[in-house]
Amino acid sequence: MAKKIDHIGIAVENLQDAVSFYENILGLALHGTESIDEQGVKVAFLPIGDTELELLESTASDSPIAEFINLKGQGIHHIAFKVDCIEKTIELMKKMNIRLIDEKPRYGAGGAKIAFLHPKSTKGVLIELSERK
Ligand code: ZN
Repeated sequence: MAKKIDHIGIAVENLQDAVSFYENILGLALHGTESIDEQGVKVAFLPIGDTELELLESTASDSPIAEFINLKGQGIHHIAFKVDCIEKTIELMKKMNIRLIDEKPRYGAGGAKIAFLHPKSTKGVLIELSERK
């Protein structure tokens, strides 16, 4: 089912500042950035091992990342698990009565098909399912 940690999503107030931290303090390298307008977010990817960090900066005051930072401050936002077939996984989650934020997959950064599970069903962790080609 879940194959590996695809990435860890971290909400940050300032993307450039956060990228510099991971580059200069932890020696990671920026792989790319992307703006996802529907989600009001700008994303930076920093690979490490066979996974990566996904830094998320809000670009709209009412975006989920803005709400998260207002509520909890900067920090770990979600953990993404790689799955082979997201449609099948979503169906399986429904059968197991897991609450989904996305009943259907949508497109996330890097063209991945993604869906979020509701933290109420996952012991408090916002879990992203991610299928990448
Ligand atoms: Zn993510």
